[in-house]
Amino acid sequence: MSAGTRLAGQVAVVTGASAGIGAAVARALAAESARVALAARREDRLQALAAELEGDGAEALAVRTDVARRDEVERLVDAVLERWGRLDVVVANAGIMPVSPVTELRVDDWTRMVDVNVKGVLHTVGAALPPMLEAGRGHLVTIGSLAGRRPFPGGTVYSATKFAVRALVWGLHLELGAVHGIRVTDVQPGFVATELLDTVPDPDLRRAWLENWGERRPLQPEDVARAVIFAVTAPEHVAVNEVLVRPLDQPT
Ligand code: NDP
Repeated sequence: MSAGTRLAGQVAVVTGASAGIGAAVARALAAESARVALAARREDRLQALAAELEGDGAEALAVRTDVARRDEVERLVDAVLERWGRLDVVVANAGIMPVSPVTELRVDDWTRMVDVNVKGVLHTVGAALPPMLEAGRGHLVTIGSLAGRRPFPGGTVYSATKFAVRALVWGLHLELGAVHGIRVTDVQPGFVATELLDTVPDPDLRRAWLENWGERRPLQPEDVARAVIFAVTAPEHVAVNEVLVRPLDQPT
């Protein structure tokens, strides 16, 4: 771990920290000396990451959390406040992408995406806001998507959830920025090499996506983490509200 200190003294929460982008963001925050709470459903993975961060000299806390459940997200924030007494940065990253053509009417998948990608973010914002409002500062980061700027065939509902996140962050800036000193950022990645494709229910669709991608270079989770660090280490008067990060090789 490189020993940055730009977030020394600060406390961060990362949802979806058991894999992919969330794990990379947690590592990057810890590498800037933040104390980091790790949230997701797979506790064994959270514990392993917490042990890794602590082994590198950071302070970490693993809290099993299903973001679709408001009570669990509130318990997460309570645990963080109890442990460290403050909350500076929240990265609402947890998300799923069980995409399929709308004609297949996988309505259960649609509602699951709303539950995790939209309600999960709302639960996270709702739980994080009280301590931030009290402190008169804080930074809420969402991991939206390029799909929050343009839908793609098969990804209609997923895209709708990410449009919702983008609108939410835009509105949060208007309500929280100047008046309450709280910054918001929606980081919008293009294709990132993670386990997210595993949430696509149709193996043929998964295979077709990867074949179509071919030899092109996707983003790595660390590339997205770098964008998060850029936003949260900007000078206090700077609100980096949106960051669109595509692979150079992604033409769409
Ligand atoms: P991964 O599948 O690798 O990681 C997803 C993370 O979300 C896991 O840690 C998972 O943990 C967590 N998660 C899923 N459901 C829940 C839940 N109900 N409660 C708590 N945590 C949950 O995917 P990525 O890292 O790629 O995805 C992270 C974010 O980035 C998502 O919001 C995704 O939409 C977004 N994104 C990804 C892109 C990509 O190409 N990969 C592109 C653009 C955006 P667990 O299963 O342990 O709960």
